[in-house]
Amino acid sequence: MPIQTGTFDGLGNSYEEGSNAALLSAIARSAEELTSGKGWPEGVNDLLAALGRVTGVSRVWIFQTLELTDTHLTQNYTFEWAAAPRYRQIGMPMFSMFTNPIDRPGYREMIRSRKNGEWQKILTRLLEPGWLRDSQEVQRIKSMLTIPIMVDDEWWGTLGFDDCEREYDWTDAEIALLRTAGYLIANAVLRDRLSAKRKQFEILRRITDSSAWSYDFTTGQLWCAAELIHSVPMPTENINLSLRAALRLVHSLDRHGLLQAVREHMAGDKDVFRQDLRLFMDCGDQRWVELIGNLRRGAGGRPEQLAGIAVDIRARKQEEERLREEAVTDPLTGVLNRRMFWRELQAQLDRAVDRSAPFAVLMLDIDHFKTLNDTHGHHAGDVILGGFAERCASAVRSQDVIARLGGDEFVILLPGERFLAARSVAERILESVGSAPFVVDGREHRVTASIGLYVHDGSQTTPARVLERADAALYQAKRRGRNRLAEADGYGSPE
Ligand code: GH3
Ligand code: MG
Repeated sequence: MPIQTGTFDGLGNSYEEGSNAALLSAIARSAEELTSGKGWPEGVNDLLAALGRVTGVSRVWIFQTLELTDTHLTQNYTFEWAAAPRYRQIGMPMFSMFTNPIDRPGYREMIRSRKNGEWQKILTRLLEPGWLRDSQEVQRIKSMLTIPIMVDDEWWGTLGFDDCEREYDWTDAEIALLRTAGYLIANAVLRDRLSAKRKQFEILRRITDSSAWSYDFTTGQLWCAAELIHSVPMPTENINLSLRAALRLVHSLDRHGLLQAVREHMAGDKDVFRQDLRLFMDCGDQRWVELIGNLRRGAGGRPEQLAGIAVDIRARKQEEERLREEAVTDPLTGVLNRRMFWRELQAQLDRAVDRSAPFAVLMLDIDHFKTLNDTHGHHAGDVILGGFAERCASAVRSQDVIARLGGDEFVILLPGERFLAARSVAERILESVGSAPFVVDGREHRVTASIGLYVHDGSQTTPARVLERADAALYQAKRRGRNRLAEADGYGSPE
């Protein structure tokens, strides 16, 4: 007689015999322990012990399926209850993390059946001679019942009952009840996985400073971790909000972008949804977060849930802002850099094609700055460059554009200004720079500068040519003795 196998569906609902009352109550007690009490793994050990005692078997065990390929099966003997020490097998090298080749047809069939979730019972005495009978006899097993443990529809492992003293033929009702034990173990596995995942998520959450959220398309409710919105710890871990209420927490400038991004994600084929937005906390503070999530679809591809995490990206946004500023300004003095000035000047030239938008450019260079640097050090030079930019800024209007071209050379664009007004701005700057010393570390430094003035007359049409003319005027100012203003050709000399 071969192994007897069967599906549980074939057993019907035959739990009726009174003799099963003890088994039923053992399973019921263990169910409570496993789901609300000890859980994994102690609860599983207790379940095996309870089952072992009421069924009167020699041994109850669990083999965990570690890897199953077409040719090999690797298992581990993870749990055992033995009625007496002589039945104990756990810890034996042959049973821990062992791999069997799937070479015999009988063995292949046995695995196929377990993998498909079928129970199996064996009465060793009735087995045909062969490897299985030999294996049972070596272990002194007279009869055996196995129940597969299926987790997420996969063969996670096997629950087995060995009898070494008696030959026991399990009834359908008993097998049906023991399937419930298999379910309980599967449930404990899932709970253990979930709690391991929760722990991993908690670690991830702390490292990335992130919180969980999910939006349910069916109910229109948003669920999120309370800390995402509440600045102080709340008695509740999670909160539910309607979509309207949730959107009110998003900065008005980011709402449209968020809804647009969700729509695009739903229509597109990208796996991951990502969107930066500003979120208001209950204290009124606003913070930048990046929502990262993915979409789950139900039957027919209907969107069911968009869920993920919100990562605090305040530091990243600050860095982005710093880089953005650095891209347009000179880091030492805070005025515009050469590249941005070039753009501003080009835009001014575009407006000035028909001479209806006059403008002037001042090119400035500190006098003998090299000597100052060499005598008092680079740091003093840096502080003076900053101070020089500040004095220029206080001498001009808000619409005027100041930039540092490099070294001790600055340039100022004066939109709308003609010759006289531009000259008086330049004189104001010379006065402001020269009239009071620059103080660095308590030490006073007298500084002067030279300025070249170019007033647009429509003849120059590129930034390079405009700067060239202003530079030529500056050269004249230097040549004539410094600390003075010189105008580009065509306007005479202030001397
Ligand atoms: P001039 O009156 O003819 O302008 O003489 P100068 O010594 O100022 O000569 P120039 O303008 O050619 O020298 C610029 C000096 O500015 C050269 C360099 O030592 C100094 N310099 C350039 N960049 C920096 C900077 O970022 N920080 C400081 N502290 N010094 C700088
Ligand atoms: Mg100089």
